[in-house]
Amino acid sequence: MTQETAQPSRRRALLQLGSAVGAGALAGCATSTTAGTSGSATTGGIPKFQVMGSTIPIMGSDEVFPVRRVYCIGRNYAAHAIERGSDPTREPPFFFQKPNDAVQLVPRGVTVDHPYPPVTKNYHYEVELVAALHKGRNIRPEQALDCVYAYAVGLDMTRRDLQNAMAAEKKPWEIGKSFDHSAVVSHLHPVSQSGHFTKGAISLKVNGQIKQSSDLSKMIWSVAEQIANLSTYNELFPGDIIYSGTPENVGPVVVGDVMTGHIDGLYDINVKVV
Ligand code: MN
Repeated sequence: MTQETAQPSRRRALLQLGSAVGAGALAGCATSTTAGTSGSATTGGIPKFQVMGSTIPIMGSDEVFPVRRVYCIGRNYAAHAIERGSDPTREPPFFFQKPNDAVQLVPRGVTVDHPYPPVTKNYHYEVELVAALHKGRNIRPEQALDCVYAYAVGLDMTRRDLQNAMAAEKKPWEIGKSFDHSAVVSHLHPVSQSGHFTKGAISLKVNGQIKQSSDLSKMIWSVAEQIANLSTYNELFPGDIIYSGTPENVGPVVVGDVMTGHIDGLYDINVKVV
């Protein structure tokens, strides 16, 4: 039982990002060797301290994937949209972000300790397919899957009471979604080995009991459509990852519960709330 975080490879990732920043913001299509620097306020000074980013190991490789931004789409399965009180037939896709350092890694075959976060009394799981990008800007849907480097299974952990309370007051519900360890994720399965994930079972168990069960084909907006839409709002860069939404029957966990996230073709992730 160890709590694994993204720490071990952070120094290496920082060094990689540092060299990319040195090259300055690049015009045109970003590639896997140029992490996003669009609009960055970068000077030539010596950093006063190091700010660590997250990296995700890549299955079958010594390389790690530096995480630039963590995007999440909301209400992307009809039955979940309905349970959250919206009309799935009319709502365009919407996105939010989690901090880059909210990533918590779950290796294969390990049950990772996940701290119950502060303030909340209603802490929810959301099992999701995660797409990791390695290039792309102003992307058309038919090109969008070319931007996906790999996939993972993740949990978009949510302080539901805080999210709901803030939403009711028409305030940003960021504190419900964006907090330490809230972006749980497996290691990455490269498309070159696993192909794309457009259908297949997605499920979540708590203490061995099925809570969420659906199919990736039931997404309202496919991964390709998500990428195309998101790229109209922000330029996407290598290192961006997208949590592609959760199916219905989200619900609470308490200390001691063990969550198992499953997507056909990826390894299961096991996470114990402590
Ligand atoms: Mn979600």
